[in-house]
Amino acid sequence: MSGWREHANCRGVDTELFFSKKAADKRMAARFCRECPVRRQCGEYADTHRFEGYSTCGMWGGVSRNQKGWRKSWL
Ligand code: SF4
Repeated sequence: MSGWREHANCRGVDTELFFSKKAADKRMAARFCRECPVRRQCGEYADTHRFEGYSTCGMWGGVSRNQKGWRKSWL
């Protein structure tokens, strides 16, 4: 692994947490993202892939996607 992922707060954390629909899991995932040093890179990665037509569900850069679009989760 190299690049920004190496510095991710969620490194080694079960990724299911970032795709869970449970409110408690979402809050915990947002906590990881809030203090993450690569939050911007993570969000940009998801945005780039989303605009290229890939599905980027789950939480990226502290933002989760729901039916209404992207939503900030750390605020
Ligand atoms: S912003 Fe959140 S999902 Fe993205 S790398 Fe950091 S902890 Fe992981």
